[in-house]
Parts: sequence; C-alpha cells; structure tokens
Amino acid sequence: MTAAIIDGKSIAQELREQYSARVARLRAAGVIPALAVVILGDHPASKVYVRNKSLACHQVGMHSSVHELHHTTTQAELIAFLHDLNGNPSVHGILVQLPLPPHINGRAVIEAIDPQKDVDGFHYHNVGALVVGEPAFYPCTPWGVMKLLEHEGVAIEGARAAVVGRSNIVGKPMALMLVNAGATVTVCHSKTRDLGAITRESDIVVAAIGRPRMITREMVKPGAVVIDVGINRLPDGTLAGDVDYENVKEVASRITPVPGGVGPMTIAMLLGNTVASAERIAEARRHAIAG
Ligand code: NDP
Repeated sequence: MTAAIIDGKSIAQELREQYSARVARLRAAGVIPALAVVILGDHPASKVYVRNKSLACHQVGMHSSVHELHHTTTQAELIAFLHDLNGNPSVHGILVQLPLPPHINGRAVIEAIDPQKDVDGFHYHNVGALVVGEPAFYPCTPWGVMKLLEHEGVAIEGARAAVVGRSNIVGKPMALMLVNAGATVTVCHSKTRDLGAITRESDIVVAAIGRPRMITREMVKPGAVVIDVGINRLPDGTLAGDVDYENVKEVASRITPVPGGVGPMTIAMLLGNTVASAERIAEARRHAIAG
C-alpha cells in the first residue's frame, strides 16, 4: 500500500479562503480583526515565525501588529505591556512568541494575557476548557491536526491513537483533543518502554518529538494514519519530520509530508482563532448597543 498524502498546504488554503470571507463580513461591519504579536530579544527563528504569522494575517485581510521589545525588558514591563493590549478594544488576539529569555517566567506571562484574547490557547483558562471538552481557544498545532483528520474523514471515535511527545504545546493538548473526539489514546515520551509496540497497535500515530525520522516503517501498523508534527533542520540545511516519510508511506494509509503537512495548518488555526475572537467581541458589542 502507498499512502495518500494529506496536503496540509491546500487544506490550509481552503480554510484561509473561508477566513477571508469572514474577515470581509467583519470589515463591512466596521471591525478589522487584529492580532498583536509580542516578541522579546533577537531570536532569529522567532523573527521568521513572527514574520510568517504577520504575512498570513495580511493575506486574509486582518491587521497584525508586531511589538519587538528589547531583550532586557523586565517581566513586570512585559506584563504591563500585555495589560495594555488586553484593554485595547481594537486588538482581538494576543500572542507572545516563545521562547522567552531566561529572566522571564513564561507561565506568568501567559497568565497575564486575557484568556478571551489568548489565541494560542495556552492560558490555564483555555487549557482547562480543553480538559473538560468545552469550546475555547485550543493550541493551534494540535487543533490543526484535528482539522486535517476531520478533512480526510478519518474515523477517530473508537480508534486507537498514539501521541509521541508530551509537551504542553503539542503532545498533551493533542492527546486531550483525540480523547475528547472518542479515541483511545496512549501518550508516549522519552521514558516510554518499547515505543514501537505501542505505535504498532495504533490506528492513528501523531509524532511530535523533534527527532528526525524517528518513527520508522517497522513501528507503523499497515493502514494506519500517520501525522508528522516534527520540523527538524538537517545538517545539509533541508527539513525532515519525525517520521521516516519515504518508508512509512509504503505502509500507512494516509500521511502528512514535511514541509506542507501540519505546519501550514498551525498558522491557519491562529488566523481562525483571531477571526473567531473578533466575531465574539463584535457580537458582544452589538448586544451591548441593542440592550
Ligand atoms: P518538545 O521538545 O517540547 O517535546 C518533545 C517531546 O518528545 C517530549 O515530550 C519528549 O519526551 C519526547 N521525546 C524526545 N525523545 C524521545 C524519544 N526518543 N522517544 C519518545 N519520545 C521522545 O517539542 P515540541 O512538542 O515543542 O515539538 C515537537 C516537534 O514538533 C519539534 O520538531 C517541533 O519543531 C515541531 N513543532 C512543529 C510545529 C508545527 O507547526 N508543525 C509547531 C510546534 C512544534 P520527554 O517529555 O520525556 O522529554
């Protein structure tokens, strides 16, 4: 069997077209959805990510402001800056680009963002909503994976899923989303014994490890759906996922490529969360005026 390739780039493009239409409706009502991105210091990769997010906002007609703060900015100054953005009615989404410099407590910073504008879905309020399965802003990468599975018509209810990786931004929320959708999920990590035995009995395998080509053909059950979240820069400068794509695609039923799989969906979900936030705030304002 050769796997069908899940084309994240074109699925993300379809979503962006839907968001463009929603943005146009908001603009017609006098609301321009806006994302504020805060970045501290001179992390080159972070700057590239921020530029891509900003560009994506503009492509769907949204506004985006990038606030580059000096790397010596104190935690108190950063939190005060976020409070200003929280109170700014023309800002609908706030994102602090990670990683933060070591003198800043990342958790304290995330908790300073208004959960109603936390479009990354990292605030405890939104994490808690995900745990109990209520609507909220969900972390963009795993939420993008769910949208890919949905788009491909993958049966999640009753499926056995293995999530490899337990980070707070990908692995753990991914596992929760799959559980909420009715899968039986095993979360694997660096202390897991006999990883291959677990992945081999899984209908869905999500790899979020950060180790190039770690998931090999022998670790995948024939016909499984394999989602590769990993983005690894190889010594020759090319990108590789966490899955040995060339060999695993010979046994999987569906597989995401790297690049062009999960990556484009992450940015699409960020746009979707920001549009949803602008719609909610506009709706609340309409009610306030009508009431
Ligand atoms: P982290 O480094 O935070 O987490 C990696 C996880 O992999 C940890 O839970 C770790 O286990 C686990 N792990 C490491 N080695 C092994 C091993 N040998 N066997 C089993 N598990 C292992 O990474 P992130 O979750 O932030 O990111 C994961 C990957 O996804 C990276 O390549 C990153 O670049 C990519 N990424 C891609 C995004 C996209 O948009 N496509 C967005 C975000 C991330 P332990 O907890 O025990 O240390």
